[in-house]
Amino acid sequence: MNLNYAITRLLRGETDLFASVTLNKLFGKKVLFVEKPHETKDWVKVYAKNHNVKRMYLISPLNYREFGSEKKTFTDAIGELCFFAKEQYIEVIPHLHLPKKFIQIKNLKVDKRTFIAIKKTKEFFSSYLGKPITKFSFGFWRVTHRNKHLQKAVTVLGMNLTKREFHVYDWWYYFTAKTA
Ligand SMILES: [Zn+2]
Repeated sequence: MNLNYAITRLLRGETDLFASVTLNKLFGKKVLFVEKPHETKDWVKVYAKNHNVKRMYLISPLNYREFGSEKKTFTDAIGELCFFAKEQYIEVIPHLHLPKKFIQIKNLKVDKRTFIAIKKTKEFFSSYLGKPITKFSFGFWRVTHRNKHLQKAVTVLGMNLTKREFHVYDWWYYFTAKTA
């Protein structure tokens, strides 16, 4: 692992996977993205305690298909992690992956279905965490974060989009299980 190389690539705008993973692992240890909760929830709990995780971005139950799970298994795992996070005073931010059209089309308008998906996600986390949700995050950040319609939908629902920060993914665990 060569940090100079990773930073140089990033500064030149030649972001590659290697540079990105290296920097995120160095600076994002305390911020965990959980996208495969049905497979990683036990690992997540150990990791969170060992690395003093302060913030957890938790995938929406609505994304179960994308991550190869069944609805109930996926939802139960997310619910379990909500309770864990609450117990450990870890901040939870809902994370929703949108249909591919939001990546393909710049500044795409928010259809009713998407709006409802954001609303349902918010309500799910609010009921499991027992408090109002004020922050939200979408997948495919580079495109979705700049979409004004998405920003507005989130604002209308009383939330703000979070800023991008260094983070690690739960599914990296498959590649780093021995060293994590
Ligand atoms: Zn994501």
